[in-house]
Amino acid sequence: MSTSLRADLHCHSTMSDGTLTPEELATRAHGRGVALWALTDHDEVAGQQRAAHAAARLGIDYLTGVEVSVTFADTTVHIVGLGFDADNAALVQGLATTRGGRDERGREMAAQLDAAGIHGAYEGAMRYAGNPALLARPHFARYIVEQGVCADVSEVFRKYLTRGKPGYVPHRWAQLSDAVRWITEAGGIAVIAHPGRYPFTANEEYALFTDFKAHGGQGVEVVTGSHTPAEYATYADMAREFDLLASTGSDFHSPDESHADLGSLPPLPPGLTPVWEPLAHRIRHAH
Ligand code: AMP
Ligand code: MN
Ligand code: MN
Ligand code: MN
Repeated sequence: MSTSLRADLHCHSTMSDGTLTPEELATRAHGRGVALWALTDHDEVAGQQRAAHAAARLGIDYLTGVEVSVTFADTTVHIVGLGFDADNAALVQGLATTRGGRDERGREMAAQLDAAGIHGAYEGAMRYAGNPALLARPHFARYIVEQGVCADVSEVFRKYLTRGKPGYVPHRWAQLSDAVRWITEAGGIAVIAHPGRYPFTANEEYALFTDFKAHGGQGVEVVTGSHTPAEYATYADMAREFDLLASTGSDFHSPDESHADLGSLPPLPPGLTPVWEPLAHRIRHAH
């Protein structure tokens, strides 16, 4: 399998903050020509069986996936895991712990939004959460759009849900070392998600890549819906410099909100080793 394989190894279902079910995502991926797919819900593997079954039914190859929320240098960083055993006890327990503070954070967010004049946000966001254990900012954003306060989700993030804004509550997620260990000890490969999106200085970014490698991390997203084409080149260089496997994924959440659709991104730049090469034995092949 080469870098030109149509792979999409990053997206979200109703098990986290996406708006489509695992089955609907599989159908959409299939319809858009995806040949190798992974569902990567935030801090949650409850959708993995459904995704794998739907993929098999449609004739798409499948890798297990997850996107773990991590706090590194006081910043939220996302680590994608691919090709792990989704029943691994330490991984399942680690993800449950990572999910743990979300409900409390959601109540605090609602209290702050209430003070800013947006009422009923906890209950309102919960109505959008397909998985109550995974209450996330996009659920709040959808409720606030529904209330007519903002025109779209990205305006809500800009005005309410990002650092320094009235509905933003800082949160401690998992440690980088733990996230990488849960994934790798479950037989998978850990991947730095959308590195171009973090507000790091060059030194901080270098520290992230160095620490990630030291903990056993092996991959980086080069092509993602969060990167510009210039960033594809930047992180292709970083993959070579740090000897990391290259991954690709749309980070699709919703037909109404996501700029990159499933299977819509260009192939990985040549000269990189795609993350699915060493994961060949973990791919669930469709018949
Ligand atoms: P949470 O894990 O609850 O902090 O929510 C993080 C999620 O919010 C991300 O995975 C994205 O889906 C979404 N998100 C973060 N920043 C933005 C933004 N600026 N605009 C739209 N969605 C965003
Ligand atoms: Mn998300
Ligand atoms: Mn992410
Ligand atoms: Mn994501």
